[in-house]
Amino acid sequence: MQHCDTLILAGWCIPVEPHGIVLDDHAVAITDGRIVDLLPAADARSLYAAGTTIERPGHALIPGFVNAHTHAAMTLLRGLADDLPLERWLKESIWPAENRWVGTEFVRDGTRLAIAEMLLSGCTCFSDQYFYPEIVAETAENMHMRAVVATPVLEFASPWANNAAEYLSKGTELVHDRFAEHALISSAFAPHSTGTVSDESFTALRVLADQLDKPIQLHLHESAQEIEDALAATGERPIDRLERLGLINSSLLAVHAVHLTDEEISRFAAAGVQVVHCPNSNLKLADGVAKVAQMQANGIVVALGTDGAASNNLLNMPGEMRSAALLAKTKANDATAMPAASALRMATFDGASALGLADQVGSLQSGKWADLCAIDLTRLNSQPVYDPISQLVYAIHANQVRDVWVAGRHQVENGELSQTSEADIVRRSSEWRDRINAKLTQEA
Ligand SMILES: [Zn+2]
Repeated sequence: MQHCDTLILAGWCIPVEPHGIVLDDHAVAITDGRIVDLLPAADARSLYAAGTTIERPGHALIPGFVNAHTHAAMTLLRGLADDLPLERWLKESIWPAENRWVGTEFVRDGTRLAIAEMLLSGCTCFSDQYFYPEIVAETAENMHMRAVVATPVLEFASPWANNAAEYLSKGTELVHDRFAEHALISSAFAPHSTGTVSDESFTALRVLADQLDKPIQLHLHESAQEIEDALAATGERPIDRLERLGLINSSLLAVHAVHLTDEEISRFAAAGVQVVHCPNSNLKLADGVAKVAQMQANGIVVALGTDGAASNNLLNMPGEMRSAALLAKTKANDATAMPAASALRMATFDGASALGLADQVGSLQSGKWADLCAIDLTRLNSQPVYDPISQLVYAIHANQVRDVWVAGRHQVENGELSQTSEADIVRRSSEWRDRINAKLTQEA
C-alpha cells in the first residue's frame, strides 16, 4: 500500500484535460496539497492507504472554478446602484461611493465576503483588480484562497495612490515583491481602461511589466460608448491605441471584449491576446454580447469571470458557465456553437490558461495543485444523470457544491465553510450597509 494524505472517491471524475472525458467511479489521491494520482476507485482502494478517505457517490469531482475577473471588495456595494448603463453606473454611483468608503477595512471585509461566496460556489481561484491590492493578497492568503492580485493603475488619485507612477511603485513593492514565489498568490497589473490611463503611463507600465514578467489586464471594448468616447478623445479605437503603445501581445488579458470587429478578433488571435468573458455583467449593464464562439474558433483562449458584485450581482461561476453557453449559441445563431464540455473548460482550464496558471491548476492531472470541487448531482433538478457534464453546465444550482479543496485543504465541507465563520462575515457586511445607508440618508 502507498500512503497519500487524502483520497476522494467520486461517482464521476471529470478531469477537463483531456477534453470532454468523464471517468465513472474514479478517485483522486492527494499528497502535500497536490494531485498525485487519478485512477479507478477500486484500484485506489487497494493501492492507497489514505490519511483521510472521502466518499462522494452521486457527485462529480471537477477542477475548482477559476473566476478570471472580479473586483472582490465590491461585494460591499452589491445592490447599491442597479439598473444603470455602464458610464452612468460608474460615474454617478460607483466611483463616488468608492472615493467615500474604500480603505483597508472596506477592502478586507469585502474581499472576505467575496472569497467566502466564491468558495461556497466551487471557485478555487480568482483574479482581482482593486484598490489596496496588498490587502486583497493578505486576505486571500489568510483564507487559503488562490488569487491573481492585480494592481490598479489610474491617472487620477484614489485613497490608495495619487498618480499612475505611485500605483506602479506601490504595486511592485507591496504585491509583486512581497508575494513573489508564493504558492497561492501571484500578481499582475490592471490599468482600469484606456480612458483612465495616459500614453506615458501605458508606456511606463509596459516597460515595468516586461521587466517583472507580469501580465496586464484591463477592461477593453466593454461598451459601444467606451469606443465612441475614445474616438472623440484620441481619434483612435482603444485597441488601436494599445497596439501603437506596444500592449497588444500575449501578456494582455482583455476583459469583456464585447465590441470587436472581425479584423480585431484576427489581430487578437495573431498576437496571442487572452480574453475574459463576463456574460452576466455584460447583460446587466446592457453592454452587448461578446462573439465568444468566433473568438474560440480563431484560437483565442476565452476565460470566464463574474466581474464585481456591483454589476452582476453574484460571484457564482456555475451561473456564468450556464449564461456563457446559452449566450454563445444565441450570438452565433447556432445551438452547437458552445457545447457543455467547452463551457466547463472555459470555467476551469481556460481560466487557468488565461491567468498563466495552466501548469498549476485547472484540471485533474498529477502534479497539479489539488484545487477541486465536488458537486452533488443527486438533487431533483439534476436527475436523472445521462451526462454529468450536461448537468454541471445546464442543471445545477451553486448550492449543490458540497466540498471544495484549495491546494488540498478542505475549505468547504458538506456545503459549509470549514475555516471561516459565515455568521461573522454576514454581521460585518450588515454593519457596512448600515454605515453607508446612514451617510446616504444624511446627504439626502
Ligand atoms: Zn471589471
